[in-house]
Amino acid sequence: MKYILVTGGVISGIGKGIIASSVGTILKSCGLHVTAIKIDPYINIDAGTFSPYEHVVPHITDAIQERVMRQAKVSVDDDGIEPEVCVIELGGTVGDIESMPFIEAFRQFQFKVKRENFCNIHVSLVPQPNSTGEQKTKPTQNSVRELRGLGLSPDLIVCRCSTPLETAVKEKISMFCHVEPEQVICIQDVSSIYRVPLLLEDQGMLEFFCRRLDLSIEMRPRKML
Ligand code: ADP
Repeated sequence: MKYILVTGGVISGIGKGIIASSVGTILKSCGLHVTAIKIDPYINIDAGTFSPYEHVVPHITDAIQERVMRQAKVSVDDDGIEPEVCVIELGGTVGDIESMPFIEAFRQFQFKVKRENFCNIHVSLVPQPNSTGEQKTKPTQNSVRELRGLGLSPDLIVCRCSTPLETAVKEKISMFCHVEPEQVICIQDVSSIYRVPLLLEDQGMLEFFCRRLDLSIEMRPRKML
């Protein structure tokens, strides 16, 4: 099973859900069996029912990992075949207090399932304030630093921006966020969200996943996106 975790930085509502579903669409179009999990990081606990000998945090992170692994195996296709790839969207933004147990669970999870079976897409915002018209990388730098501080390193940084990223801006994000330029992907505002999978594919996302997750999809027939 290959797991692709989609995290978000800076603010919510920048298209993380659209990017997670676009990743699934691209992989499905290659003939892979793909499932998806959306995590909304709300935890309801009644402390009054706890024994004083119970401790929450390790139990929560273990429970999250077990739930993800169990759910990922559930077939979502008519043929009943177990999925090969699970795209997990973690709601909210990195650093939110309510998503901390989930981030910690995935920090542990990446070692449990091994490097070739887990990767992280971090969706961030590159604002372009009217005052200067410049594309600003600082929010992305800060959110990647925060993610790394919590033990997850992005394999792809997907930058949401109003207009396509300038080459110099892409290089700056690559340099200051410690990734190769090919790991920086730009998703600008589009008139139809159905263009998002095409933008991801144009920027080599599929080839990247093939290498990073050792996916053997070259031989599979491609369906139209
Ligand atoms: P999040 O998961 O980060 O909260 P969503 O994926 O739900 O964000 O997207 C928020 C809104 O932005 C939706 O209405 C979606 O259609 C729109 N949206 C997402 N990506 C783009 C894009 N590249 N261009 C234009 N609108 C987009």
